[in-house]
Amino acid sequence: MDTLRNCIDGEFVEPLGGRYLDGIEPATGQVYCRIPASDGRDVDHAVGAARAAFPAWSRTPAAERARLMLELAGRLDCELADYARAESVDSGKPIRLAREIEIPRAAANLRHFATAILHGSSESHAQDRIALNVTLRRPRGVAGLISPWNLPLYLLTWKIAPALATGNTVVAKPSELTPWTASMLARAASAILPRGVLNLVHGTGAEAGAALVAHPEVPTISFTGGTTTGAAIARVAAPMFKRLALELGGKNATIITAEADLDVAVPGALRAAFQNQGQICLCGSRILVDSTVFEEFLERFVAAARQLKVGDPLDEATDQGALVSRTHLDKVRGYVELARTEGGQILAGGRAPVALPERCRDGYFYEPTIVTGLGTASRVDCEEVFGPLVTISPFNSIDEAVERANATPYGLSASVWTRDLDAALTLAEGLDAGTVWINCWLVRDLRVPFGGMKQSGIGREGGADALRFFTEPKNVCIKYP
Ligand code: NAD
Repeated sequence: MDTLRNCIDGEFVEPLGGRYLDGIEPATGQVYCRIPASDGRDVDHAVGAARAAFPAWSRTPAAERARLMLELAGRLDCELADYARAESVDSGKPIRLAREIEIPRAAANLRHFATAILHGSSESHAQDRIALNVTLRRPRGVAGLISPWNLPLYLLTWKIAPALATGNTVVAKPSELTPWTASMLARAASAILPRGVLNLVHGTGAEAGAALVAHPEVPTISFTGGTTTGAAIARVAAPMFKRLALELGGKNATIITAEADLDVAVPGALRAAFQNQGQICLCGSRILVDSTVFEEFLERFVAAARQLKVGDPLDEATDQGALVSRTHLDKVRGYVELARTEGGQILAGGRAPVALPERCRDGYFYEPTIVTGLGTASRVDCEEVFGPLVTISPFNSIDEAVERANATPYGLSASVWTRDLDAALTLAEGLDAGTVWINCWLVRDLRVPFGGMKQSGIGREGGADALRFFTEPKNVCIKYP
């Protein structure tokens, strides 16, 4: 059985307390690795290493930082198959998804920010003939980066890449449920980056994560995870005046108008509902359909969902793998029960799959589940489930669609399926969401601002927003003679 280690100052070290957590493969329910249960001492050690590495790394020419990061991206490409397998085993996601989308995206994150720093320009403001202002942007020091389990390497590199590119050093804490690919990345980085530039500390949120957030020498915290955790982090970080980015939960609407091309909208909405077993913050877990096409959409959507193959994540033919943990499976089951109690009708799923390979007998599987008939006051239609459970409801006007879509505490994303330009623009304007997709879902240009409104978070990642987040502007004002 593998035992993972923390990566601190380029060395792979045991947690100082000598404690470990069990790493469980979701597809089998079996323990397959041991994960350091790090505490504040390990975090302190890692922050010390990151602080020591900061002066040299922050002064390293951008071209050199870029070269090293591109080399790291190249390593991900070369070891794509190994990374994809590790990600699939660790999280339960279909290996095809890991290989075709998520690991390539991790490499793309590194490339995007490595090259972005070569093409930026600094701002200057000429103030008549009085003075010339030049705004310098400097790295902020040690960045504490905390990521969730659903897209493990994809989301961790989305933070690591802009932090390193702009000259910060990093202490990263991946989710304790999915630590494996982060460890592989640290192994590759230890052969490429200078010591102490990228440090990795494993462990629980309550111990390792909380210690990182509270550490006085970590002025920047970038967190992706649940809204409740985000609130707890903000309570600690705000009085310490840390710079904080919070990418939190979502309960995103998929809106199908009367003019939607259902040949495109049905597969699009299906992917949005169930990709990665519905465990993507951007998943469209509430489908709102114009009442004039409601019955047709429902029939086609249910038929398509029944075609999804739930199975061993390591099987190339699998569409739906395992949920990440027993606890999470229980949560999803609980919401399906609640949907029944709230008067919903289960049109598909609502149970564990019956035919699974022997290896997966004790795994955390659940069928893609479709619920209709829930009222506007329904909790299932309002709270984040983060699993293979989608609700479908009719609407009678675009105004009603906007109102229903906005009737949650979240505001992360929405997708609109229509051939009516007026409806598309009205919806894009009216929806409270950081991202609105029209006739697509999860099309991601890494330059655009990414983040949520309301309880989906504060701050934006991506492109120039991420470069600004990880740097401190300093205006230098030069007086004309
Ligand atoms: P989580 O909040 O339980 O954990 C996320 C990370 O935070 C983990 O590494 C965890 O160990 C750590 N953590 C937990 N408590 C902490 C604390 N007190 N201090 C510091 N760190 C702590 O979330 P999760 O269950 O891993 O992920 C699922 C959630 O993430 C969902 O709500 C989903 O919507 C959200 N998410 C959001 C985005 C986005 O971009 N907005 C992307 C992916 C996932």
